[in-house]
Amino acid sequence: MKLTYQPFELQLRHPFTIAKFSRTSTPLMLVQLIHEGYTGYGEASMVPYMGESPASAAAFLNKVDTAQFKYPFDFAAIINYLDSIAPGNPAVKAGIDIALHDLEGKLLNKPCWQLAGSTPQLMPVTSLTIGIDTPEMIIKKVQEAAGFKVIKVKLGRDDDKELIKTIRSVTNLPLYADVNQGWTDRKKSLDILYWLHEQGVVLIEQPMLKTDIDSNAWLTEHSPIPIIGDEAVQRLPDVEKAKGVYHGINVKLMKSAGMYEARQMIVKAGELGLKVLIGCMSETSCASLAAAALAPQCDWADIDGPFLTVNNPYKIPEFKDGKYVLDHKPGLGLAVDGRN
Ligand code: MG
Repeated sequence: MKLTYQPFELQLRHPFTIAKFSRTSTPLMLVQLIHEGYTGYGEASMVPYMGESPASAAAFLNKVDTAQFKYPFDFAAIINYLDSIAPGNPAVKAGIDIALHDLEGKLLNKPCWQLAGSTPQLMPVTSLTIGIDTPEMIIKKVQEAAGFKVIKVKLGRDDDKELIKTIRSVTNLPLYADVNQGWTDRKKSLDILYWLHEQGVVLIEQPMLKTDIDSNAWLTEHSPIPIIGDEAVQRLPDVEKAKGVYHGINVKLMKSAGMYEARQMIVKAGELGLKVLIGCMSETSCASLAAAALAPQCDWADIDGPFLTVNNPYKIPEFKDGKYVLDHKPGLGLAVDGRN
């Protein structure tokens, strides 16, 4: 099996601002694994705050021995092998895992969603995320969200209520809200949660610091809206720790080291009575289709990467009534230069 990779800078449609930072592009590493004439496509999206970079991804990929990837793939053994190369590095591990899943689907002539046991009819709607911005730009972004059935907003600043009022001046769509650890006072947080509930906000991501377990647990106990752990939940062992602290978890392939462990996390969450939001980083159609393959097994989806970026090297996935449409193409169903 041959491994190739290329760095790629994914440009965002608008500068993206959340509670703690702002950026205009995201570095990716595009990964291909070639075997028996088939190419499996993967992708690592390395948002700067997660600590990975094109240099760290290349250093990791140079250590990968593809002789470890024997078909039929044993994904549990493969993730153990990748973890044995170096700890951390979840995005580049996801890049390899996604490419192997795409390859597996092509070798079996079956779509990844089918191999993962997903039911397309259960696909949840996907939200479109709107970053923190001026009222004029917020209104413009909401107008650009035509076709989406739910909007996700980034909160965590002093003017959170103003931002919601601006959005409510132009749309009645349900809202997801992501605080990105931006709130500090639990009583004030609960007050605003009740107000957000009245405003049609249906879930809240990571309201307080991931290390402040007591405050997040207290909010979860009292909140009228489901509280979802995102920054606090990276890989499988974190799911158990989320029980009693959050109503649910946000699974992202770039945190979980790919599709295999994401699926384990979804199953574990179900066993523990935790809800699941499947999300993404700034990603092309490749990693987005990988997340969409698992989305029917989740309660909510936020897989908006292809809709927030402008130089996606692949065809935008089919999207209808606010949902990804899973087709019967083998593997991820990624269209590369008009081919699949
Ligand atoms: Mg989040």
